Amino acid sequence: MSEITHNLQTIKAQIEQFNAQTPQQTQLLAVSKTKPLSAVIEAYAAGQRLFGENYVQEAVEKIQQLNNQSQYDTRYDEIEWHFIGPIQSNKTKLIAEHFDWVQSVDRLKVAQRLNDQRPDASAKLNVCLQINISEEDNKSGANKTQMFELAKLVSQLPNLTLRGIMCIPQKTADQTLQKRQLQQMQQLFLSLKAQYPNVDTLSMGMTNDMQLAIENGSTMVRIGTAIFGERATKRATR
Ligand SMILES: *Cc1c(COP(=O)(O)O)cnc(C)c1O
Repeated sequence: MSEITHNLQTIKAQIEQFNAQTPQQTQLLAVSKTKPLSAVIEAYAAGQRLFGENYVQEAVEKIQQLNNQSQYDTRYDEIEWHFIGPIQSNKTKLIAEHFDWVQSVDRLKVAQRLNDQRPDASAKLNVCLQINISEEDNKSGANKTQMFELAKLVSQLPNLTLRGIMCIPQKTADQTLQKRQLQQMQQLFLSLKAQYPNVDTLSMGMTNDMQLAIENGSTMVRIGTAIFGERATKRATR
């Protein structure tokens, strides 16, 4: 058995175990950024269907290669591609054309462009608002008060479906602080869900805080390292 297959089975078993103890069901998004297409294909063969990417150019190359391949080999059309990286507004067209979900919408301008550039033939683009829950200056994401205003505007855009919120909590050894961020996200999620019928996704939890995130209501964890191994280097370009 390959390492990726083995890792996936381990993570899925853990998630199932947590799911048995929490009211919500948590889905697994496999974060394949910086990893080759062969890694995506391996994970697909092991049953994985949701994939997350951070860098537009890299992601579009993988998606196009896979589309070409699927004409004569396995069909990969069950894959759901999630964009989870920072969004420059000059990249929104490529994102709108190639992804099923965008989890990192943090401002109206980006939402508007994704809406306008979504191809007519495509289904509505699923959107999560990225929340800067730790309110760090250098981190993208809407703050808590901006969230409700942004949600209202996004929910009115015809080619987008507002599905929920996403965060990357501040890394900290302070467990109280860490937990407080996750609890605040859950509160925000529940109040949004009460207002918007399509909201069903609280995207939080990565390799290092998966369990804590699920215990605090996460419905989707985004796991890279624990599935595909360490990433070689932090890429300078996106
Ligand atoms: C890279 C990344 C992940 C995955 O992180 P791991 O620690 O490797 O599991 C999840 N979410 C976002 C937004 C990322 O950029």
